[in-house]
Amino acid sequence: MNDSTTQDPTDRPDTSFVPQLDVRQRAMLAEMGVRVWAPRPPVDAQVTAPVAAEAPPAAVARAPAPSSMPAPAAPAARPAPVRPPVNEAVVAAPRPVAAPARPRPAGVDAMDWPALQAAVAGCEACGLCRSRQNTVFGVGDRQADWMVIGEAPGENEDLQGEPFVGVAGQLLDNMLRAIGRSRTGSGAQATYIANVLKCRPPANRNPLPEEVAQCEPYLARQVALVQPKIILAMGRFAVQSLLQTSEPIGKLRGQVHRYQGVPVIVTYHPAYLLRTPSDKAKAWADLCLALETAAASPDRSTAP
Ligand code: URA
Repeated sequence: MNDSTTQDPTDRPDTSFVPQLDVRQRAMLAEMGVRVWAPRPPVDAQVTAPVAAEAPPAAVARAPAPSSMPAPAAPAARPAPVRPPVNEAVVAAPRPVAAPARPRPAGVDAMDWPALQAAVAGCEACGLCRSRQNTVFGVGDRQADWMVIGEAPGENEDLQGEPFVGVAGQLLDNMLRAIGRSRTGSGAQATYIANVLKCRPPANRNPLPEEVAQCEPYLARQVALVQPKIILAMGRFAVQSLLQTSEPIGKLRGQVHRYQGVPVIVTYHPAYLLRTPSDKAKAWADLCLALETAAASPDRSTAP
């Protein structure tokens, strides 16, 4: 297992899981900057096999039609990330946090969606309520069997009230599309996206332990209500908060963890991947592990 601070000097494509990919999925992986190894077809097949005849795997066959896809932007034309780069290895220096104006509402663990959303919208349990423009509750299908959990809103998310709408969000969207998922999808494409923190830390500083502790019950209730088949935990704060560990991501990747009984796959934060593209191949391997794990996970309706 590689530590998140250790770069793969060869930047070799990950060959541990090689799904069959159609042209659109290859384009998506190219957009992620991931090179996926695949055996070169014989010369005859290269000449005669029509591209459209490629059979996508069951796990990725649910992706939307190519006509619905946005044109991928050339990576070189991308603006610099709005959020400062996520450093997966550096722990936040503790800073004083303003005393909460009001305690978190009671009974979060029994709330339904409207009550939970209202509780978050009115939350003043930590000092972040003073600087926020909007709370950022979550987005996507609340019955999704995939759940993505990130860190905290940045500037764009704070302004729009939706998670992952900045450049890191664009990469997340591309990663999800590569596996046939999207924040707007339903049914087999559905994904619910939420953060550990529902309010933006000022100047995008790292979340403080007190802030994570105050916000954690909201996320726990979201997971309990969604009841996903799989959770993709992105970045150190999501991972360490969900798994209650201080282990680095590099040590936690490649295993199936559990949160509320739900399988959790650990991967890098998209903002980190924008800064460290050589780790995108590892993120792709993590997505593949999540696909495999979700496929093997019992259907929620039959789960005990
Ligand atoms: N980074 C996150 O972890 N979450 C967001 O919503 C945006 C950026």
